Amino acid sequence: DFLQRRPANFRPMTPIQFLRRAVDVFPDRTAVIHGDVSFTWREHDRRCRMLASALKGAGAGEGDVVAILCPNTPAMLEAHFGVPMAGAILNTLNTRLDAAAIAFILEHSETKVLILDRQWSGVASAALAKLKNRPLVVHIDDPYAEGGELIGDLDYETFIGRGDPDGEVTWPSDEFDAITLNYTSGTTGNPKGALYHHRGCYLNTLSQIVHHELNSNSVYLWTLPMFHVNGWCFSWGMAAIGGTHVCLRRVLPAEIFASISKHDVTHMCGAPTVLGMLIEGAAKTGIKLQTPVAIMTAGAAPPAPILKATEELGFTVRHVYGMTEMHGVAALCDWHREWRSLSAEERSKRMARQGVRNVVTDDMIVGDPVTLDPVPHDGATIGEILFRGNNGMKGYLKNPTATDEAFAGGWYRTGDLAVTHPDGYIEIKDRSKDIIISGGENISSIEIEEVVFQHPSVSYAAAVAMKDERWGETPCVFVELKEGHDGRVSADEMLEFCRARLAKFKLPRKFVFGPIERTSTGKVQKFKLRDRAHSA
Ligand code: ADP
Repeated sequence: DFLQRRPANFRPMTPIQFLRRAVDVFPDRTAVIHGDVSFTWREHDRRCRMLASALKGAGAGEGDVVAILCPNTPAMLEAHFGVPMAGAILNTLNTRLDAAAIAFILEHSETKVLILDRQWSGVASAALAKLKNRPLVVHIDDPYAEGGELIGDLDYETFIGRGDPDGEVTWPSDEFDAITLNYTSGTTGNPKGALYHHRGCYLNTLSQIVHHELNSNSVYLWTLPMFHVNGWCFSWGMAAIGGTHVCLRRVLPAEIFASISKHDVTHMCGAPTVLGMLIEGAAKTGIKLQTPVAIMTAGAAPPAPILKATEELGFTVRHVYGMTEMHGVAALCDWHREWRSLSAEERSKRMARQGVRNVVTDDMIVGDPVTLDPVPHDGATIGEILFRGNNGMKGYLKNPTATDEAFAGGWYRTGDLAVTHPDGYIEIKDRSKDIIISGGENISSIEIEEVVFQHPSVSYAAAVAMKDERWGETPCVFVELKEGHDGRVSADEMLEFCRARLAKFKLPRKFVFGPIERTSTGKVQKFKLRDRAHSA
């Protein structure tokens, strides 16, 4: 009936569309810079089309999975368009995975083609050796790779050279068709493959453009791995606005600052640990930014002192929140002009909150874990963060049980525990599995970390639960000291420092000094620290 009918010119939403626009509007502008290599939007588009056509020629078409194991290089960007343009599903592999996990993912996703940067050939050949059905392997001989054999069936340039740049692009017939696949890190059990649809990726890309305030003059530096939920959508977003990508294989402070000044970078992203690294790097070299760079941060709660120090370096910090299942970013600590008049301290405290839903998320609440009703906006009652909308995953590939569990009650259940403040802004207190329960009281590991962070010698801190006969659990804090501060602070001194700032029952029982285990995205691996808490 007419009222329900879709208009005759309706097209499903898809991020592929963004590349077409970049070519139409900014064909000769630089799209991608990678060291001495660069491509215009016209050239980039041509390479993406060649990749799509070559994939089809190799039998990887609609609904097939194409995996890529690659750092932030032009080929990784080309895969973000070329693979869906063949109608296939892009499976981005985390470059820190071991051979067993890679083998599991390739097998589980029935990957047809693996595109491989030569630097990862060691782990890839060990993974491939475990497979019953070896996919077609296409190796990339990146000029900036640090070693690695060429173990593929053929070279990437040869492969795309077989493709027809004028070949037909496969557009999704339905906007809920699958487009990408991201396996979660799998801290317990096997990794789960979050599968996304064109519509969600399209909407999230637009939301990221709005909230990171990108425009056609934007120059985006790739400090966030693109394999991490498709680089929070900037892999597609820069095409939508016709800006410029700057690739970076290694995320090191010196290289970051050099790229920023060489290419007039305006935007980037990074986990709070990346912010910490920039602060340390700048302290050593005395570097300050000449013009402001907007940096979007998420992945873990950024401590207020880190936000403050990052702003002092000349960055504009945008704190966002999300997870693999919501396709990266779904919420942000949206900025209020009125906060400008607050002290730097007070401002960074506000900014450390996870905030409110982004423009394309239908709803985000902190709900009672049983009834799912919103908790009171009192800044004190803890509940679980719940999301509703159509910008997240379709579900986990070939895993209906986990999918039903994730969406139980008609919300996406994050497992993150938080409060809602009177202004409606949400603040995370812990992940449900990280909260420390001592003598029946909940202790937020984040609250302890915030206090330890205030110590002038501390560069990073992570608090975890340690088994205790009397209390059930007590806090144990792992501490990384700033360079040159080793041996300058004792556990007793740290305890005294905390005693002045924390309730007695929240006081850490143990401090362990030394390096903290992190994932490739800079996230602290608390499950490893929990194991170490007893032996350390
Ligand atoms: P994984 O779940 O495999 O660790 P994700 O990237 O999906 O990887 O992690 C999502 C989780 O990271 C969230 O559920 C939350 O616990 C944490 N997280 C992400 N962003 C923030 C943030 N801004 N503040 C606090 N925690 C965050």
